Amino acid sequence: MAVILPQAVPVIDASTLIDWYVRAQRDLPWRRPGVSAWQILVSEFMLQQTPVARVEPIWLAWIARWPTPSATADAGAADVLRAWGKLGYPRRAKRLHECATVIATEHGDVVPDDVDTLLSLPGIGTYTARAVACFAYGKRVPVVDTNVRRVVARAVHGLPDAGSPSTRDLADVEALLPDDETAPQFSVALMELGATVCTARSPRCGVCPLEHCGWRARGFPAGTAPAKRVQKYAGTDRQVRGRLLDVLRGKDSPVTRAELDVAWTVDTAQRDRALDSLLVDGLVEQTADGRFALCGEAD
Ligand code: SF4
Repeated sequence: MAVILPQAVPVIDASTLIDWYVRAQRDLPWRRPGVSAWQILVSEFMLQQTPVARVEPIWLAWIARWPTPSATADAGAADVLRAWGKLGYPRRAKRLHECATVIATEHGDVVPDDVDTLLSLPGIGTYTARAVACFAYGKRVPVVDTNVRRVVARAVHGLPDAGSPSTRDLADVEALLPDDETAPQFSVALMELGATVCTARSPRCGVCPLEHCGWRARGFPAGTAPAKRVQKYAGTDRQVRGRLLDVLRGKDSPVTRAELDVAWTVDTAQRDRALDSLLVDGLVEQTADGRFALCGEAD
């Protein structure tokens, strides 16, 4: 007589998680009906290293001004850098402009819907390609960011943190995805849980919707990884780069070296290094007579 094995019970119950998400999700503008794939892609670029609260006003202004890839591509790279404002890591703005240009010219102004084609676009890595395929097109693909990795480490593996990214992360999340059309909602719910409940420093286990959590079941053993140092901004090269870019953003014509120098007088070697790195990144250009301008404005 054939033995009937019990069906494996998923560690994270999809319908429980999705029900929680429907009740508890944040009202984020890029999740609202009518938002296009391009606009979702823009949000993913901005959210890569910047908190939601800072992204929201910039994203709203951005999509009102440049709602499509071609509108963004038609804008000058310097105006794109200006609109990026204080989101930080401005190389993302330049890459977003390049990405818009490729989509407008090579993809008929339509964001591709498959992960491989998305990965071929400027500025799009594994996470963003999967996020766009999933959130914009409803594809059943694992989407793995830091928040998701942390929830999986805790709930599935019983560990306090996720450790370094690994090729196993995608397979872990793929194994959790429901096989039906609810997979995209499960993905966004998993991410939301990590962002709002299962946070890095103070998980709110009392309101967590998951019935099973390996870390909780083991009594929350402490991790062995050294505590992450909070990244400082003040005094870093990033801050100096930001100050130099602020000067250039405020001008519509090239500036002299002396006008840039007043932006950072604390450490002149650091200022020179920051300016060199902006030139190397292509965010700043030099005119033939030695003045400086945002990319595309040196002519
Ligand atoms: S029970 Fe706590 S640690 Fe486990 S997934 Fe929920 S919030 Fe995270």
